[in-house]
Amino acid sequence: MENIPEIFGSAVFNDEKMRERLPEDIYRSLKATAVAGARLDPHIANIVAEKMKDWACEMGATHFTHWFQPMTNITAEKHDSFITPVKGGDGVIMEFRGKELAYGEPDASSLPNGGLRNTFEARGYTAWDPSSYAFVKDGTLFIPTVFCSYSGEALDKKTPLLRSIQALGKQVSRILALFGNVSGKSAIPTVGAEQEYFLIDKELYLKRLDLVTCGRTLFGAPPTKGQELHDHYFGAIKPRVKAFMKDLDTELWKLGVLAKTKHNEAAPSQHELAPLFTGANVATDHNQLTMSVMRSTAEKHGLVCLLHEKPFKGVNGSGKHNNWSLLSDTGVNLLEPGETPSENAQFLLFLTAVIKAVDDHQDLLRMSVASASNDHRLGANEAPPAIISVSLGEELTDLLDALENKAEYKGKKRVQIEIGADVLPKIPKDTTDRNRTSPFAFTGNKFEFRMPGSSLSVSGPNIVLNTIVAEALDDFATRLESSSDFHADLNKLIRDNIVAHKRIIFNGDGYSKSWEEEAARRGLLNLKTTADALPCFIKEENRRLFEKYGVFTDAEIFSRYRILLENYSGTVDIEALTLIDMVKRNILPATEAYENELCDLIMKKSGILGEASAATEKSALEKISRLGEELVGLLGDLEKKVTYSKGLTALPQAVYCKEEVLPAMEDLREVIDALESSVDATFWRFPTYNDLLYSVN
Ligand code: ADP
Ligand code: MG
Repeated sequence: MENIPEIFGSAVFNDEKMRERLPEDIYRSLKATAVAGARLDPHIANIVAEKMKDWACEMGATHFTHWFQPMTNITAEKHDSFITPVKGGDGVIMEFRGKELAYGEPDASSLPNGGLRNTFEARGYTAWDPSSYAFVKDGTLFIPTVFCSYSGEALDKKTPLLRSIQALGKQVSRILALFGNVSGKSAIPTVGAEQEYFLIDKELYLKRLDLVTCGRTLFGAPPTKGQELHDHYFGAIKPRVKAFMKDLDTELWKLGVLAKTKHNEAAPSQHELAPLFTGANVATDHNQLTMSVMRSTAEKHGLVCLLHEKPFKGVNGSGKHNNWSLLSDTGVNLLEPGETPSENAQFLLFLTAVIKAVDDHQDLLRMSVASASNDHRLGANEAPPAIISVSLGEELTDLLDALENKAEYKGKKRVQIEIGADVLPKIPKDTTDRNRTSPFAFTGNKFEFRMPGSSLSVSGPNIVLNTIVAEALDDFATRLESSSDFHADLNKLIRDNIVAHKRIIFNGDGYSKSWEEEAARRGLLNLKTTADALPCFIKEENRRLFEKYGVFTDAEIFSRYRILLENYSGTVDIEALTLIDMVKRNILPATEAYENELCDLIMKKSGILGEASAATEKSALEKISRLGEELVGLLGDLEKKVTYSKGLTALPQAVYCKEEVLPAMEDLREVIDALESSVDATFWRFPTYNDLLYSVN
């Protein structure tokens, strides 16, 4: 048996190791720097670098890398070895200077920058983020870093996240001060990102170009067994999957990731891993690590981990529930209903701030989870709809109603509640958690944002959440700071905001058609696709919001907008080209070969038995020839559309992809799926859904 507490964090240069290995004054200045987010003193950096390198070499590292998060959903790394020639000798020593720890200059001209850098000044720079620990993985010391352009514009997903955490902390501090700092002086957002994924056999995966280049199947008839029996969710984990999960946990624990829960998900071959929550910055780094370790561990087991939101049509998709709360510097969860009247009042204020923020900025939250891959999931049966709403559970909703109407709260005990004077009735946690159809649910002491897709970096949604809640708290603090009757004004503030934003509260079935109509009546946004959602990013009011809280400059927003659009159209383009390739080089030839086989059979049979025989073969041939002809026609349409799309500029191209290319691919798919169900299996060249979904035992 492995000793888990000993393994946990063994590959991380964490606080314990810093304390152990750094001189005390250096350790203290480093901690202070990390907390303040300040620049590291070069003298300190040199010592930290040396100690870090010594430890990393003991762990078997020969290289270091500045690990960063460019505007893709994955991380980037460039490895440099520690070797340095000995002065005047032939050999080398292992050396790592403070400068190398603190700054890097990756030639990142091939990473997306959305026009922020010209090629002649393509070098970005990376800078160490000492608030996230360095770690050793596969013989390399990884240093978490931010990635900026020379003029300081963020080119990554970490920089704006750190800025948003800071902005939010500042506003929370003002609120806490108003309540006498009882719960602490400041706070950070906490995040627990539940990660869903599929595991399939690698050999089968390699036989499907669509899985290899797009991460999803572009065709495939429905499996004969789907989720009808509900026998996979929480089912016994199969041995091969169990072995994978055990390795995955061990690897993640070594890296200090708090992997906690694992289980089978709703679809065959679908699983989930949930970590314990931690600060938003580290949680984001850890989710990136989790995805990358999932992929590499799967490989070791002859498996492939699919992180795409919708690898299989008609089968449950994968999401990444983003659990979010606020943790004060004294360890108080600010979204936990309190024990005293004043704690309750503070809780209600934070709760109301989140409700206001979500209502005011539905567009940004929707935009933050928009991608070509997530479009296949949002609005589908198992995923939250594209409409943003907040579910609070019945008790809390009743309570807010009572506050709004100055009426009695009709909970278990009938009570009249005066905020700041009365204790709130206990709100049972488990009943608030059960609305699985809500995109944004209050689950007792945190909010669960269920729209992010499985492959998305959680940075984006958390940047938006942090910023919009900062704005709401800023507004509240400004009103209350000038108040002469705190108690009365607090009551009024909460009441006014409940009235103003209660349209966003919805506890019913988010999947139902009637909700879509009701939401429209309430004036809630319903931005169905990425092409609909992205343009809100560059709206004047949203740009002013991000600017006000120092999260994004205008230039950064426009560059990101461009990258997101390019990413969307680029993804659709790759998918279309892949489909075209598979049809031309495999599906049409297979169809033709089977047609020939049928012709041969018919000739043989009718030669022996006469013209009237071979009726089955003849009708099969007729059907397949008809489908084959249809396929050729639709293929031509799709090819034309792909060519046309390439000539368009960013937004029109995205809209064209949505309105023309994707539907053309769907038309093609319908015919392919019909063929798959009719062509003799020995002629069909691709693993089917049955093969793929039941391949791992
Ligand atoms: P469920 O989704 O079934 O309610 P849990 O309540 O156990 O499951 O939590 C799901 C996720 O929420 C876990 O990753 C957990 O760490 C995270 N979580 C719990 N409390 C918080 C919090 N205060 N802030 C952020 N995430 C949290
Ligand atoms: Mg959940």
